[in-house]
Amino acid sequence: MGTARIRTRFSPSPTGDLHAGGLRTALFNYLFARAHNGTFILRIEDTDTTRSTIEYEERITEDLIKLGLVPDEGPAFSGRYGPYRQSERTELYTAHALELIEKGLAYRCYCTAQRLEEIKSADIKAGRPPRYDGRCDALDESSTLIKESTEDGPPVIRFRVPKKSIRFHDSVHGEMSFESSAFGDFVIIGSDGIASYNFAVTIDDALMEITHVMRGDDHLPNTPRQLLIYEALGFKPPEFSHLPLVLAPDKNPLSKRHSHLSVRALRENGYLNSAILNTTARLGWSPKTDNSAPLMDLEEMAKKFDAKRLSKSPSLFDPAHLGAFNRLAITALEPAEILKMVTIEEDSVTACSTTEAIEAVKQNCSTLQEVVELATPLTTASVVQTEETTEILSSESAKGVIRSLLDTVGRSSEPIIGASRYKEIIEVIKRDAGAKGRKLFMPIRCALTGRTDGIELEKIVQLLGKETIIKRLNKVL
Ligand code: GLU
Repeated sequence: MGTARIRTRFSPSPTGDLHAGGLRTALFNYLFARAHNGTFILRIEDTDTTRSTIEYEERITEDLIKLGLVPDEGPAFSGRYGPYRQSERTELYTAHALELIEKGLAYRCYCTAQRLEEIKSADIKAGRPPRYDGRCDALDESSTLIKESTEDGPPVIRFRVPKKSIRFHDSVHGEMSFESSAFGDFVIIGSDGIASYNFAVTIDDALMEITHVMRGDDHLPNTPRQLLIYEALGFKPPEFSHLPLVLAPDKNPLSKRHSHLSVRALRENGYLNSAILNTTARLGWSPKTDNSAPLMDLEEMAKKFDAKRLSKSPSLFDPAHLGAFNRLAITALEPAEILKMVTIEEDSVTACSTTEAIEAVKQNCSTLQEVVELATPLTTASVVQTEETTEILSSESAKGVIRSLLDTVGRSSEPIIGASRYKEIIEVIKRDAGAKGRKLFMPIRCALTGRTDGIELEKIVQLLGKETIIKRLNKVL
């Protein structure tokens, strides 16, 4: 690993919200930097001016901060390698492109868009991968071609690709080898003066002294081009780790189209940071199993993070995993902490406080919304019946159960109905109303909570207490 201080970066294009795929890249870069006492950099790749927006940059930055992945350097942070937005680095790119021209390693290309289109169609027609034919490579400054094409706009600058095999070691995929002949001389500065992705990224990674590049393996084909630029400019390339795809539940690669899986949407839908981070951490990484709790915090993840344990195959973002982690995360919280994140109606006449209700329901909930849904019937003055519960309560047998319950509870001397009293009551109803199983328990659950699901009935009965139970039963009768 050498003695250089580790520097990693997350470099999103601000063209959409951060989703689990992008978050995975950010998280692994963050963990790797933390694990080695290094620096984690946020760089904004906003050269695509038509699709990039400052709002998305702000939203991505805010998402990272909220999750605890606070960059050490970046547009909104300090750092002496800035500016950290590519749109503010144009001069640096131009200067390096001119240096390459000077060295004979790049050249201006005057081909018109129409000509390029023609070469491309001819290649495709012949079944070849499209590549530039190099016509402007040997142009003389006095060529008439130059005069003719300047009307079409300023020339682009192309990198002169040397013929060679490009080999590198990828820490996920192992030894990689590409032939440069597969791609033609590629554009590094466009006609609008904007650097291409491959050029800007390479200049940035080199000047920002990035030591480890961890990114999606959709960028794998770009790496040989970037390595040629490193070599031409005399820069030392970083170590590469190309992370396999993350698939959405629909088995398509996770992308901005899956807007319900953006970090923002997940938080809005009641998933806690810790669950989001723990689910994301397992996308292509598995910590060595040991006795620690399944929910890791960032510090523990960083301690365990090992780039050698990254998987080569795509991973699935599974909502079931997210739900399971969220349940653990919710259960681990004190009711007071949950109450900071949700609002639950509380009515002073009920026997149960919001704190008691949350404590009772939390381990049954995979989202914060479920906490609200299950706790509310325990804390509000009156429950609202749905079409489904009204239907269940309308049968004669259900009415019999409710009447019998009302009668038995009414005879209870204590205001709170404890476990043994509850069992006695149930036995009485079984005998008197002749109901058992679902026919016995479902009407009671519906009458008391207006829901067909929730926590154990015994707990509900205990939390509500005699007075509230009687009120609710009378209401449905
Ligand atoms: N801006 C690129 C993206 O959002 C990342 C490029 C890189 O990491 O090299 O896919």
